[in-house]
Amino acid sequence: MHRFRNALAALLVLAPAGALAQAPAPAPLPPLRPDQVAFRAIYQELVETNTTLSAGSCTAAAAKMGARLKAAGFPDGDLTYFADPTHPKDGGVVAILRGSDPKARTVLLLGHIDVVEAHREDWTRDPFTLVEENGYFYGRGASDMKSIDAVWVDTMIRLKQAPKPPKGTLKLALTCGEETDGSFNGADWLAKNRPELVRGDFGLNEGGGGRLDDQGRRETLAVQVGEKAYQDYRVTVTNPGGHSSRPRPDNAIYQLAEALLKVRGYAFPMKLSDTTRAALAPRAERADPAGLALKRFFANPADLEAARAAAADVSINAVLHTNCVATLLAAGHAPNALAQRATANVNCRIFPGESVEQTRQALVGVIADPAVKVEATDPDKPLAVPPPLDPAVIGPMKAVAAKHFPAVPLVPSMAAGASDAVYFGQIHMPIYGVPGIMGDPDGNGVHGLNERLRVRSLYEGRDYMFDLVKAYAGAS
Ligand SMILES: [Zn+2]
Repeated sequence: MHRFRNALAALLVLAPAGALAQAPAPAPLPPLRPDQVAFRAIYQELVETNTTLSAGSCTAAAAKMGARLKAAGFPDGDLTYFADPTHPKDGGVVAILRGSDPKARTVLLLGHIDVVEAHREDWTRDPFTLVEENGYFYGRGASDMKSIDAVWVDTMIRLKQAPKPPKGTLKLALTCGEETDGSFNGADWLAKNRPELVRGDFGLNEGGGGRLDDQGRRETLAVQVGEKAYQDYRVTVTNPGGHSSRPRPDNAIYQLAEALLKVRGYAFPMKLSDTTRAALAPRAERADPAGLALKRFFANPADLEAARAAAADVSINAVLHTNCVATLLAAGHAPNALAQRATANVNCRIFPGESVEQTRQALVGVIADPAVKVEATDPDKPLAVPPPLDPAVIGPMKAVAAKHFPAVPLVPSMAAGASDAVYFGQIHMPIYGVPGIMGDPDGNGVHGLNERLRVRSLYEGRDYMFDLVKAYAGAS
């Protein structure tokens, strides 16, 4: 890794610190080009195909994208549909665009087509209708990650229809199961069962993108190189229970609640890695309280007061250390009985270099109640292997950025969330979070209500990603 650290310093930080704040307000979008109209139809079809676990079908979405690829000229032999018989709705598709030069690189374009649940009654608009309003696209998956899925399908179609095939081979894998634990994960299944369909020199996935400031001005482009490990812990309290007309001081629900409040109050040790220091550098230039504190922490990593002040910004806090939060609760067996069991799910995002067991022991130490059991649930995700900062991958990202996003720094980022990239460690294949589509500071409602994406971010990101893939594949 050492060799790349210096390359990183040389490669990535493009713009001097002060240049960021003055980014001009973006010009209004010109009327759509015909290729953008065709692209928008793919995006709309994806967003409007419900792919939630509860009510949707990834298999249906994959079939629709496969039909578009076939119509564009992909022979049946280069389209592979896959689904597990026990999960018929969690299927996916792999498409291969064979290059003309067997010595050229093979690149995988990876995208999960499933989305997090969304309830119509909670949203302002129907989450499964693509709505374009005030410069935003709204819909479940508008940002995570049907935007990138649509760009990938569109890219494969355009390069398939190009006068000459690319030199390098391109593979597209649209998979299900990224957003849900314990169901069928297509990326994992492909890596385990059909590695030849997805194997390449490297892959591009979600997790990168870029960041706008709260005025919509471009702040950074991001290439994701690594992610925190995803781990759930079951926290359980049991109690003899009894009749609720005779409450006692010992109570499973209150005991669990006290334990969770301690978890809430605990901050895991804050630290910087090469990747997070580089990723946060632009943020430390912003003269707000969190930015100024971050700058102090950069200067003195032992200044924990500064770190805590910087962590007041939730985006900074997400990458400064391991984070754990209670996400699910279950307790009691009858309304008229004292609870005999109270259980919570505590979801942790573990900082690279820290282990699942270390984190469990930290939780036990914080709770400091031997009657409260803390167990790591079966790790359903392998540990992420950070991809190398390979100049042959990062170089083109930078070069294409200079054309599309002049003066915007390209920074490495460590994702706070987990992605399907973790499954490609099994076949020793580095996966990068692709830069290009810039998000808002508030997180665009991803996994939450009224998920949205700036129209400009999508079309500009698409143009960048198309040129980037062309650069990798040696396509003209
Ligand atoms: Zn996602």
